[in-house]
Amino acid sequence: MTDFPGEKPVKQATETLLTHRGRRPEQQFGFVNTPVYRGSTIVFPTLDALEDYSISFRYGRQGSPTTRGIEDMISELEGAAGTLLAPSGLAAITLALLSVLSAGDDILVTDSVYEPTRAFCDGMLARLGITARYYDPRIGAGIESLFTDRTRAVFVESPGSHTFEMQDLPAIATVAKARSAAVIVDNSWATPLFHRPLELGADLVVHAGTKMFVGHSDAMSGTVSANAQFWPALAKAHRQLGIAVGPDDAFLVARGMRTLAIRMKEHEQRALGLADWLADQPDVIRVLHPARPDHPDHAIYRRDFSGSGSLFGIVLHHGPREAVAAFVDGLQLFSMGYSWGGYESLILPSKVAHARTATQFDPGGTLFRLHVGFEAIDDLKADLASGLARYRERL
Ligand SMILES: *Cc1c(COP(=O)(O)O)cnc(C)c1O
Repeated sequence: MTDFPGEKPVKQATETLLTHRGRRPEQQFGFVNTPVYRGSTIVFPTLDALEDYSISFRYGRQGSPTTRGIEDMISELEGAAGTLLAPSGLAAITLALLSVLSAGDDILVTDSVYEPTRAFCDGMLARLGITARYYDPRIGAGIESLFTDRTRAVFVESPGSHTFEMQDLPAIATVAKARSAAVIVDNSWATPLFHRPLELGADLVVHAGTKMFVGHSDAMSGTVSANAQFWPALAKAHRQLGIAVGPDDAFLVARGMRTLAIRMKEHEQRALGLADWLADQPDVIRVLHPARPDHPDHAIYRRDFSGSGSLFGIVLHHGPREAVAAFVDGLQLFSMGYSWGGYESLILPSKVAHARTATQFDPGGTLFRLHVGFEAIDDLKADLASGLARYRERL
């Protein structure tokens, strides 16, 4: 894939790259941002131009400066040979899977995987004659015993987005490489600012761009990045599936990326601060946050990540539904909703145990997932403190 037209790739610090890549003010009357290019048809002035396949943009479905700028930026952040936008995180995941799997193959998928990914594996992939088998997220090098001659890929999500187990990606990737299987990593939690799976042996990285990249809860997006070995297959699958992303959504991803570094720093500090405070509350049995030293996989976090995300879990003493309702219904600042990654704080009662097939996940109490946004931290604490009091009254 060609670079963003006219842009010379130079090695830049992450913050500089986020603010300067993928835009060319001098080519757009000085306007700072790359405009929303709307279009299907791209016209060619001559037969020579029509037949020149090195021209960056030849048809609307294949992208525009609005999309290409973001793709190049993410490739640089991930250390990838190429990146492609998809209309949602799940579309990015299904694209990555379809780019490496064929009928008769099987794939090893973490038991902690995002549930819609599991649904695709058990539904569409099964229909296409591809078998998904699930593995214990803490398996590490032990994954070797699950490989068969037909295993073509491993799907890693670290940490699990409800249960927060970390995975030993280098160990898994070493086994997979020896068996010529592709390793796909869902890196939505950490973003490439805090975790670079390709450098640890992964082949493809997917993001729910909807979450941290967009960052404002106002668009859906996904990305897939690949190393040099898997980039041609990824680009081909993207082309054949006809995946095209609307320019308005792409613009919102670009706008979000500009502030990703400062947002991630703030999310990290706030989430950790709140997690530490919650760990001291009498109603909280456990906090599931990989960056806390009491997390069982903290050593992996320390080794493979340079920072942590906005999302973590808390476990309260078992309570009836009425107590859970009293907690969450009365919250003033934490809203309930799927998704995460925006400026606003969210909470979700987590029911993940039923989805597991290879392992059991028993949190030992009632599990909630929190996304910490940018409200004043004391206001967030007060909101949660009154919620915990309502919960306790109904135990
Ligand atoms: C939300 C999410 C996805 C899917 O992203 P969508 O844009 O909602 O399709 C994938 N993986 C993880 C970890 C997520 O949290």
